[in-house]
Amino acid sequence: MELRMKTIFERIIEGSIPSTKVFENERLIAIKDIAPQAPIHLLIIPKKVIPNLQSVTEADEHLFFEVIQVAQKLAVQFGIDESGYRLLVNNGDDAGQTIDHLHFHLLGGAPLAHMG
Ligand code: 5GP
Repeated sequence: MELRMKTIFERIIEGSIPSTKVFENERLIAIKDIAPQAPIHLLIIPKKVIPNLQSVTEADEHLFFEVIQVAQKLAVQFGIDESGYRLLVNNGDDAGQTIDHLHFHLLGGAPLAHMG
């Protein structure tokens, strides 16, 4: 029997925690971040339970292109396709990952702090 606790994102995906959904299909959900770090801050979340990037396998390869397709569509929908946006994963403690369910932040709507 599996005793693992469900993450917040699993609960959002199953609908037991409310969220503002901006996209959903069989494989992905996109929601507004509850504590936005930019004027537009969305989270694109695979429904499959993948804790982090280190857990990704070849079987998941299709998901990544689809994440980019969804990001492209949302960027148009939220009017940031031309002004620019950042699509990122916080992977692990040093990157500040707080929810162990792989998710992609889509940030934009204003100049973002330079990284790298
Ligand atoms: P991480 O820090 O793991 O990369 O990103 C987790 C993100 O989830 C954070 O930006 C945080 O604001 C967001 N978040 C945490 N709890 C909730 C929630 O209940 N609803 C929504 N919509 N976002 C959440």
